[in-house]
Order: sequence, then C-alpha cells, then structure tokens
Amino acid sequence: MVEAAMVDVFVIGGGINGTSVARDAIGRGFSVMLAEMNDLASGTSSAATKLVHGGLRYLEHYEFRLVHEALAEREVLWAAAPHIIWPLRFVLPHHRGLRPAMVLRAGLAMYDYMGGRKLLPPTKSLDLRTHETGKALKPGYRLGFEYSDCWVDDARFVVLNARDAADKGATINTRTKVISARRLDGVWQVETETEDGTRDEVRARLLVNAAGPWVDEVIGGALGKRGAHNVRLVKGSHIVVKKQFEHDRCYIFQNSDGRIIFAIPYEHDFTLIGTTDEDFHGDPRDVRISEQETNYLCAAASEYFLNPIGRDQIVWSLFRCSPAIQRWRQRRAGGDARLCAQDRRHGRRRRSDQCVWRQVDNVTAVGGIRA
Ligand SMILES: Cc1cc2nc3c(=O)[nH]c(=O)nc-3n(C[C@H](O)[C@H](O)[C@H](O)COP(=O)(O)OP(=O)(O)OC[C@H]3O[C@@H](n4cnc5c(N)ncnc54)[C@H](O)[C@@H]3O)c2cc1C
Repeated sequence: MVEAAMVDVFVIGGGINGTSVARDAIGRGFSVMLAEMNDLASGTSSAATKLVHGGLRYLEHYEFRLVHEALAEREVLWAAAPHIIWPLRFVLPHHRGLRPAMVLRAGLAMYDYMGGRKLLPPTKSLDLRTHETGKALKPGYRLGFEYSDCWVDDARFVVLNARDAADKGATINTRTKVISARRLDGVWQVETETEDGTRDEVRARLLVNAAGPWVDEVIGGALGKRGAHNVRLVKGSHIVVKKQFEHDRCYIFQNSDGRIIFAIPYEHDFTLIGTTDEDFHGDPRDVRISEQETNYLCAAASEYFLNPIGRDQIVWSLFRCSPAIQRWRQRRAGGDARLCAQDRRHGRRRRSDQCVWRQVDNVTAVGGIRA
C-alpha cells in the first residue's frame, strides 16, 4: 500500500491566521500543506473592519502590553506590505458627557509612543469648527483629535500570504475540507475531501487548527473530541452607505454604551460604518446582520453626522463572527503557550488578543478575537 505523503506542518484554514502560519513555516524551511474548505479569506478575514491598529480602546483597560505588541506589529505589517496597507488618519470628536478631553489626549499621547512608531504622523488636536473634518459633523462638536493607524485590503492580504507561501513551495489547497485527523505513532493522519467528493490522506508532524470561528467544530468533528467549547463566537456587523464626507480620514465615534464605531472611507464612493459586537450562537455560516444591529449603527453614526444615517441609505452590509477565547492562564515554562484573557464586556473589561494554545495531543490552534 502506497504510504500517504508526509509534511512537517499541515494547516487547517485559509484565513489570515492559517495563511500567515503557512507563509512563516515555509519561510523557516518546513514543508507545508494548507487546506481551505471554501475560498481563501472566505471566512472572517474578508469582512472585518480592515484596520491594522493597536487597539486604542484597550488602553482604557490597562492592556499596555497588548497595545504595545499590536502597535509594533502594525509597523512590521506596514513595512512588509505597503502596497495593500495604507496609513489612515482617525478623527476622534470629543463628546461632552463621555470621556474627558484630557483622558483622550493622554491616551493618544501614550498610543503615539508605545509601539515604535517611526513614519506615521503623531496625534494633533483639531478645531472642528474650522477644520474640514468638522463639516460633516453636527455643530456641537468643537474639539477633536486626529491620530494615526493603518487600513488593509484584508482579503488581498490573505491571498498574498498564500501566494508567497506557494511560491516558496507550500501546497495550498482551496475547496478542500479537512474531515478527519487522527494521531498515530506521533504522526497526524489527515483526511481531506474536495467539493467533488475526492478524498485524500496526508501525514503531518504538526497540525495547526486555524479554522477561525470553526475552530471548535474542527476539534469536535475532524478530531473527534466531542463537546469542545474553547471559544465563544462574537458577531460583528457593518453597514455600507453612500459617501458621507469628502475628505480621506476616518471617524472614530464614542457611544454612550462605552462602545466605539468607525466611519471609514470605503471603495471610493462609500462609507463603511461599524462594527457591532454581540454574542452569536449557531453555525458561523448562518451569521446575518440583525434589525437591532442595523438600527444601532444608524443611531450611533447619526449621533455625530449632520445628516442622519437612515436605513434607506444602506447599500450593503458586512457581517461575520470571530472566536473569543474563554479562559485565562499563563504558562511560562518553555514558551509553551499563552491563553488569553477571560472575556469581559460592558462594564467588565474586555481584551483582544491573538491566542495560541496547545491541546493535549499537540494540535496547535490559532484563534483570535477582533482587534
Ligand atoms: C466584525 C469584525 C471586525 C474585525 N475587525 C478587525 C480589524 O479591523 N482589524 C483586525 O486586525 N482584526 C479584526 N477582526 C478580527 C479578524 O478579522 C480575525 O481575528 C481574523 O480574520 C481571524 O482570522 P482566521 O484566519 O483565524 O479565521 P477565518 O478568516 O475565519 O479563517 C478560517 C478559515 O478556516 C476554514 N475552515 C473551517 N473549517 C475548515 C475545515 N474543516 N477544513 C478546511 N478549512 C476549514 C474556513 O472556511 C475559513 O476560511 C475583526 C473581526 C470581526 C468579526
């Protein structure tokens, strides 16, 4: 009997995490195969808010290390892909009754210097009564702050990761679902099935579960570990409306519930408004924007824009869910793994982080929660 092919690293999932792992591993000289059940970036990685940012709002929760790491990563990513990652200026109008101006200014000053920013311009204060970014806002907004982060063409970033990995020798299989993975004598036997029902088997020394919101489905299904509940799903939705302002900055709006939303120039003629943030129960394939979310985004943006955002202006919407890690524990020994924070929201602290954890039988799972 012909023995199945052997690779060092087998990656389940062709989103930003899976393709990044594949590109990194092949770059280090490992043999790599990746299977994506649909198309590359067809999961969460094509419907995100498309920001490469440090997570300014996490400063409020004293997540200094997280923000520092994310800002340092922003510089690395921008330097690696300046043709699909662009600097973006964010305008934060001061809203009386919400965070005091002093607090915002101090937080932004920290944000400017925490991650080794070199080329992006620092924060500055704006008089929204005279500055062009004030024209689209209600007259009550006078003071604003303008700071730097980046924007990314997220789906293209995923494809370019896969392209580069393939150019270096990795095998990238789309429309290929991992249906079973069993460990035998220290080696993984991975079974895949393509859309036309063709099955194939591959052996692998290391298995990476980068299935995003399906990470538990893979553990419970393909790996046969029933009852896996490592992640909770968080749904986020955006609405797309006709262009609301002429300048090229994005707005970050604070809301009375403590949350923030962005209003971002999108595809030249539109404005992307989002995101919401709510628990989702069910199959990630069935996620849809809800009436409440649509009303919430319209109301939140209309709190600021001179011209209110009505439902009749919505031309499109984007919605996906992300996995949120449930538990927190930190292991120091041998750089084994780091598990992320408990999730705390709405008055309890919330944290965002890329999480890596190692299961008993050496499956390395990569998941993250939105930045
Ligand atoms: C609304 C929202 C806004 C966000 N905004 C931002 C932002 O502005 N900036 C930021 O940095 N992050 C943001 N995030 C977070 C970011 O989008 C996610 O962390 C990231 O996309 C997760 O990527 P992933 O590769 O883990 O998952 P995914 O992109 O979902 O990829 C997983 C892939 O696995 C495949 N798969 C599943 N099961 C199998 C199987 N059995 N066999 C083969 N393939 C399989 C799926 O088809 C899917 O393509 C946001 C997230 C959300 C939900």
